[in-house]
Amino acid sequence: MITKAYTDESDPSSNLMLVDVHAHLDHSWFGDELDAVISRAKKAGVRVIIQNGVNPETNRLSLEMAKKYDIVKVALGIYPIDALNKEIEEGEYPLRGNKFDVNEELEFIGKQKDQIIALGEVGLDDFHVKGKLESQKKTFQKIIELAEKIKKPLIVHSRDAEKEVIDMLESSKCKKVDMHCFSGNMKLVKRAADLGFHFSIPTSVVYNMHFKEIVKRVGITVHIHFLAFA
Ligand SMILES: [Zn+2]
Repeated sequence: MITKAYTDESDPSSNLMLVDVHAHLDHSWFGDELDAVISRAKKAGVRVIIQNGVNPETNRLSLEMAKKYDIVKVALGIYPIDALNKEIEEGEYPLRGNKFDVNEELEFIGKQKDQIIALGEVGLDDFHVKGKLESQKKTFQKIIELAEKIKKPLIVHSRDAEKEVIDMLESSKCKKVDMHCFSGNMKLVKRAADLGFHFSIPTSVVYNMHFKEIVKRVGITVHIHFLAFA
């Protein structure tokens, strides 16, 4: 999703920037086209693309991409379903990488703190894999604690676990939070907005009434300082 951001809050007409706040440029859909995609994005005025890792393979790819493309900034994470990699039976969910140790990967992510701008994509998912929330919560709690320790924002996935995600974040010290593709009800939208959290809205906003309503309530403009680009 592309969003507008301004470098100068007092004059929104100045320095208009386009920021893609949530991308998975490692997706096979891009194939050999990535150079062309990045170049078209630049021509269209995109100044930053935040590339989200979801497991060891994509985390390392994301770091490589940031070295190659100056507009790519990196968020490293463990996707809630990938976090279950050792618990899910073969075929239950198509895991995108090899099995891995969550604690070892979190340690790796922590060591990259100077190369990354956020932790993402992380969170909880009770939609694609049912009934594994308790285990996912343990990993998400560790990620929240890592974010507190290395002082990075969180890019959060919360499919069918929106209340649980907000409950956990509310009791943490994390204040810089992007709720990605948030499908919770408007009461939860208000709760997250009141906590100062931001929302990244998917492109389906052009026809999806839920996302239209979120935009109406919380606004579409975010300011670039939300994520501490360094
Ligand atoms: Zn994503």
